[in-house]
Amino acid sequence: MTGVSEKSQSKFDLSTPVQYIKGVGPARAETFAQLGVETVGDLLEYYPRDWNFLPEPTKISQIEPDRTATVIGMIESTDYQGYRRQPMFEALISDDTGVCRILWFHGGFLRNQLEPGQIIMVSGKAALYKHQLQLTNPKFLVLDEKQPQSIEQFSGGVYPASGKLSSAQIKKIISRVRDAADQLIQEFYDKPFLKQANLIGRKDAFRWIHSPPDEKKLAQAKRRLKYDELFLMQLGLALRRHKVQHFSAAGQCVCTDEIDSRIRKRFPFLLTEDQNGCIAEIADDMGKSQPMNRLLQGDVGSGKTVVALYAALLAVANRMQVAIMAPTEILAGQHFLSIERYLRKSSVGRILITGGLTGKKRNEVLDRIKSGEIDIVVGTVALLQADIEFQKLGLVVIDEQHKFGVHQRAQLRKQTTPHCLVMTATPIPRTLAMTAFGDLDVSVIKHSPPGRGAVVTRWVDRQHRRKAHEFIRERLKAKKQAYFVYPRITAVEQAGDVKAATDEWKHLSAKVFPEFAVELLHGQMPSAKKQQIMSEFRKGRIDVLVSTVVVEVGVDVPNATIMVVEGADQFGLAQLHQLRGRIGRAEAKSYCLLFAETENETAGSRLEIMTRSNDGFEIAEHDLRLRGPGEMFSTRQHGLPDLKIASIVDDFDLLVMARKNAFELVSQDPMLTRAEHKNIRRALLAKFGDALGLADVA
Ligand code: ADP
Ligand code: MG
Repeated sequence: MTGVSEKSQSKFDLSTPVQYIKGVGPARAETFAQLGVETVGDLLEYYPRDWNFLPEPTKISQIEPDRTATVIGMIESTDYQGYRRQPMFEALISDDTGVCRILWFHGGFLRNQLEPGQIIMVSGKAALYKHQLQLTNPKFLVLDEKQPQSIEQFSGGVYPASGKLSSAQIKKIISRVRDAADQLIQEFYDKPFLKQANLIGRKDAFRWIHSPPDEKKLAQAKRRLKYDELFLMQLGLALRRHKVQHFSAAGQCVCTDEIDSRIRKRFPFLLTEDQNGCIAEIADDMGKSQPMNRLLQGDVGSGKTVVALYAALLAVANRMQVAIMAPTEILAGQHFLSIERYLRKSSVGRILITGGLTGKKRNEVLDRIKSGEIDIVVGTVALLQADIEFQKLGLVVIDEQHKFGVHQRAQLRKQTTPHCLVMTATPIPRTLAMTAFGDLDVSVIKHSPPGRGAVVTRWVDRQHRRKAHEFIRERLKAKKQAYFVYPRITAVEQAGDVKAATDEWKHLSAKVFPEFAVELLHGQMPSAKKQQIMSEFRKGRIDVLVSTVVVEVGVDVPNATIMVVEGADQFGLAQLHQLRGRIGRAEAKSYCLLFAETENETAGSRLEIMTRSNDGFEIAEHDLRLRGPGEMFSTRQHGLPDLKIASIVDDFDLLVMARKNAFELVSQDPMLTRAEHKNIRRALLAKFGDALGLADVA
């Protein structure tokens, strides 16, 4: 390295745009930007997707017959025998232990490449020929003293390339900042921790990930960088959580025995052990002035709504208001109805806010909310809009169903600091609970209330369709009800033969089930019409409800025991499981019939898992594996930086360790102000920027 280039490199820091690196002009900077690389720091984190290794060289005296050998030696002499039937180029090479003969058949082209005096590396299979060892047709590389790096071209990282930038070019550019990197990369942890956690230094990790001397060092580099990546992510989550807990106060809700028994009297059944467990955790949280931030997880029909209502009534008993939000109007209506059922003759003020509520009426309602006259407000995400003012909002319940993200929750918190309970019916695999939802505490309802009939799931192909229809007819005659769910509302030409609800509804009502009441429901209908159809279905006046996935969420009609999913291969696992959750809500046996023909292997395994398992957690884990975590949730969407090297599925152990250490660090040094945490804080800010609202931590 010459003095001049060293000087120019010391100008870099991790936030220097790549354009200032030698060999990168505006055009290449543009190409790099498309690869997600804008700064020197990004470039160093542009990790290879694969690595090549040259085998360890051996001494000539140690070459063994019938084995692959790699030797470095000097060419003593060369000879070309072009007159043979098989022309042959021969070289004798030597090292300090001996001489070896190398042969290349048809090697005429080597006459102007190899000459005595050169140092070469050869790698190939050794064989005995007339009692002498020789290598035949080996790979070779001239180790040119003027270009000592040439050997790297045959080893080291292979980068994800783009049309305009090859792996070799990327490698060359990265090599230009490598020495600067040595000064820029700062260690995060002290030596005892590194030792105890079995992690190598951060500088080494960056050096070795790009050009690893051997496989072992590569593995160590990967482990360290994965750990750091997961650690910073968990640290972001820990800080976000700390901030919520310590810089905002929520109303404390006292839960006396009197309040507890008053609330329980509202339910016509005893709560299950799981429900009681969750309620205990929630009541404990709500008793504190730190805002609760809890995820209530449980399969469809497991009894989450009841738990949420308990929390709501606890807040109301403490003279606070509650907002309950659902992703769709149907589900909001459903929640409101069950609340009504439980609160009959109660003095608790409650209201459902729908899109249909406008003008003077709406203003009236808003006034009553503002004055505190209404205790529980139920609605969709539209409740988040700013014009609703509460007198004292104590609790927000969000039925998430994977449709909301952290951002909306954060938005909500800007206005007030209520306790927050997020419900989700799609069980979240452990890995996601620790990442996408990693700033939440988790309560789980594992077992559904007793008295639920079994749900049988069948994958039905075309030839058994008629039989399936007859089977359904028998159930309908026995006064049971059925859902028919389709992937689309109306047929789309490009979609091939994907069935559409509107067309099939006509067919089903006229041809297949003419003797029954068959009605259509879809998301684009006016909300009053939707409510009306749902209400008729609930009352049993509609036998078959034909719809799109609008019924996916929360609809609770215990007498509906049949779920037919048409074009089931078009749905994801989580969706299928949700749909199936609509049935099996009473004691009668229920049937989920998945209608599909598919050649697609992944779609096939989804359907097969459905027929095999009723366990939401098991299905969620399968889903994660089939789709990959990147598909299942986007880190960006959750305000987390993208993972470049770690995988939350494959590196679960590191994730657990990173999480534990990150949360411990924040509990000891919440603002990361201690000198020994300076480097961590800097890296964290560079990564998250404002995404987590950490600016005030700086
Ligand atoms: P989720 O919200 O998890 O889908 P719900 O709270 O809506 O589940 O409950 C589903 C059904 O189970 C409802 O009809 C509810 O009345 C009933 N249920 C809830 N908890 C119990 C219980 N402990 N015992 C009996 N039935 C219950
Ligand atoms: Mg529910």
